[in-house]
Amino acid sequence: MTETPEPAQPSFRSDVTVELVKHAAGDSDVLFAARVSTAGEQSLEEVTKDPERSKGLINYLMRDRHGSPFEHNSMTFFISAPIFVFREFMRHRVGWSYNEESGRYRELEPVFYVPDASRKLVQQGRPGKYEFVEGTRAQQELTGRVMEDSYRQAYEAYREMLAAGVAREVARAVLPVGLFSSMYATCNARSLMHFLGLRTQHELAKVPSFPQREIEMVGQQMEEHWARLMPLTHAAFNKNGRVAP
Ligand SMILES: Cc1cc2nc3c(=O)[nH]c(=O)nc-3n(C[C@H](O)[C@H](O)[C@H](O)COP(=O)(O)OP(=O)(O)OC[C@H]3O[C@@H](n4cnc5c(N)ncnc54)[C@H](O)[C@@H]3O)c2cc1C
Repeated sequence: MTETPEPAQPSFRSDVTVELVKHAAGDSDVLFAARVSTAGEQSLEEVTKDPERSKGLINYLMRDRHGSPFEHNSMTFFISAPIFVFREFMRHRVGWSYNEESGRYRELEPVFYVPDASRKLVQQGRPGKYEFVEGTRAQQELTGRVMEDSYRQAYEAYREMLAAGVAREVARAVLPVGLFSSMYATCNARSLMHFLGLRTQHELAKVPSFPQREIEMVGQQMEEHWARLMPLTHAAFNKNGRVAP
């Protein structure tokens, strides 16, 4: 006789996962694409000839916003983050491909987001001109406790419906946006730069943005991977005010 597995117990996370699962991306891809304009079919040989010139060319392309040479590369990330992060993420339409886990075809795992003590909890100021400051111990305790209670209650309702034979796609309606989901996201350096310009805060940014902290956590990890693959392009992005070309 086979036993019905026990439902998983809710678990709580304060971090996000970003893995680079596949890539074909290097500074040489930018140079190769840019030099075809002038060197034609011999451009492949030009790529590694003169490193200083290559650095200069990438910087020039970035500064003058010649964007298309930054598109001839590809990075695929596996990302696990709360659904509210994915809602913001998938607003980025151009130069991105997404595939997300299905709540119709599989039972959703009860993993939920609870901010840790480093997450500033209190918003001050008016929309468009506000800042976040630390919460008190009492606010932190309240946030953790109320979120966990609420998540447990929602998951119990989900399980109750599944146990009664209700379809997953209907039962999932009770689950909150703090539930973790996972997806593959594929982009190129140009679309990633546009994303990073909007979804990270950085002292070198010419045009400051004010992203939600949790999508910024994803962006920062993606940026670390990208910087290792394309150091010259990354340096030029920073040097030119973190504006996508
Ligand atoms: C801090 C912050 C707060 C935000 N708040 C809100 C909010 O309150 N409500 C809300 O709905 N969204 C909000 N957004 C989402 C925002 O409006 C964009 O949808 C999101 O940042 C994606 O940017 P994008 O359209 O430039 O990117 P992509 O969709 O990747 O597009 C890239 C670029 O392609 C061009 N492009 C793409 N589609 C079109 C088109 N249809 N027509 C013309 N040009 C196009 C544009 O130049 C665009 O910048 C917020 C974003 C940020 C960063």
